[in-house]
Amino acid sequence: DRIIAPAATREDDVAETHIRPRRLDDYLGQETVRAQMKIYIEAAKRRSEALDHVLIFGPPGLGKTTLSHVIANELGVNLRQTSGPVIERAGDLAALLTNLQPHDVLFIDEIHRLQPAIEEVLYPAMEDYQIDIMIGEGPAARSIKLDLPPFTLIGATTRAGLLTAPLRDRFGIVQRLEFYTPDELTRIVRRSASILGIACESDGAAEIARRSRGTPRIANRLLRRARDYAQVVADGVITRSAADLAMQMLKVDPEGFDQLDRRMLLTIIESFDGGPVGVESLAAALSEERGTLEDVIEPYLIQQGYLIRTARGRMASRKAYLHMGLKPRVEPAP
Ligand code: ADP
Repeated sequence: DRIIAPAATREDDVAETHIRPRRLDDYLGQETVRAQMKIYIEAAKRRSEALDHVLIFGPPGLGKTTLSHVIANELGVNLRQTSGPVIERAGDLAALLTNLQPHDVLFIDEIHRLQPAIEEVLYPAMEDYQIDIMIGEGPAARSIKLDLPPFTLIGATTRAGLLTAPLRDRFGIVQRLEFYTPDELTRIVRRSASILGIACESDGAAEIARRSRGTPRIANRLLRRARDYAQVVADGVITRSAADLAMQMLKVDPEGFDQLDRRMLLTIIESFDGGPVGVESLAAALSEERGTLEDVIEPYLIQQGYLIRTARGRMASRKAYLHMGLKPRVEPAP
């Protein structure tokens, strides 16, 4: 329910259909990834071959799904989409693979969540465009080999470390998406605003961008809420002050922190004297699950240097004290 949650909500899925970039030129930021993909795509097209398999990793909301669709569009092929946990039986995967047209893209989101038995089916499919499937049951069962059209597998995952080595090794192209800079997010907000038909001044866009935690999905979500605010309260223009007031109403502070972030930092500072505090104790103090804390709350705080992960637990940094309006703890001499 957090307005700054990086994972997609149903509302995002609907609202994003028109906003999502379809071509590389509209895929803003990620310059290295873009420059490389442009060349790989062009090379595959000139050779009339399927593009090598691509692994995209990066935190939620940074554009993994979008990039996969952009790649398929630029290649001029179809994209079939599925996700790791959805594929329950080897037959499900075989059906997807055998229905591909030559050079099509199969996009598997959350590819680290594939079952081991299904991952095994993928290996020969990726390497030799072949699969072995079992026909029949019991003593009459036999395995047959099926040829597949040459295709491109695009796998997406939040962390490269979650993948098994044999799977990771079968991707020829590995792309890592980085958090976006405020300037890149400002461009994304302005582009989205023009598609949504809402006037958005560059100061207004920048105000939204800097609270978006480096994440386009959050930027677009905050933009939609700022649009509501501007249309009702501010003559329909997202000015800097309209954006700022809208964000105050949503309780998203100038660093893009919500109450949960602030509560986490304050708990470490006030209840645990700034840390280090073990993740279990911290989760208990916050009445949150350990997984939520590790996957949802802390990555951005760590990445931004507000929270430090040590062998003995989490610590609030000097920056965290200052952000909360508190005097930093004086470090004891080593
Ligand atoms: P992920 O698959 O990594 O969770 P998505 O690809 O669904 O993220 O991206 C979330 C939204 O952010 C998309 O709907 C799209 O509108 C926007 N977006 C992502 N990357 C970009 C980009 N490089 N340029 C412009 N908009 C982007």
